[in-house]
Amino acid sequence: MATPLSPQEALARAKLRALAQGVQVWQLDGGDFPRYAVPSSNMDGTAYEVIAYGANDITCTCPGHVNRGICKHVGAVLVRLDVERELTATVEVA
Ligand SMILES: [Zn+2]
Repeated sequence: MATPLSPQEALARAKLRALAQGVQVWQLDGGDFPRYAVPSSNMDGTAYEVIAYGANDITCTCPGHVNRGICKHVGAVLVRLDVERELTATVEVA
């Protein structure tokens, strides 16, 4: 890719990649911030830890996130947070 993506574009693509690949997300208990385990698609038996410190501050322990600051694991958690927000909103309206 010739042109670097804006952070918004990178996030949108990470979410799409997560959706397209059906990346799974498991919420973990404990901690001050929501934590998730997201399995690696390359390595069986490996899962990365994603921590949501805030809407725009989500970290992942995978090498891709360390190098690029974004990855599909974060995308998968963002999708899940979107869905949860949607569901909460629906419940409040009903
Ligand atoms: Zn990752």
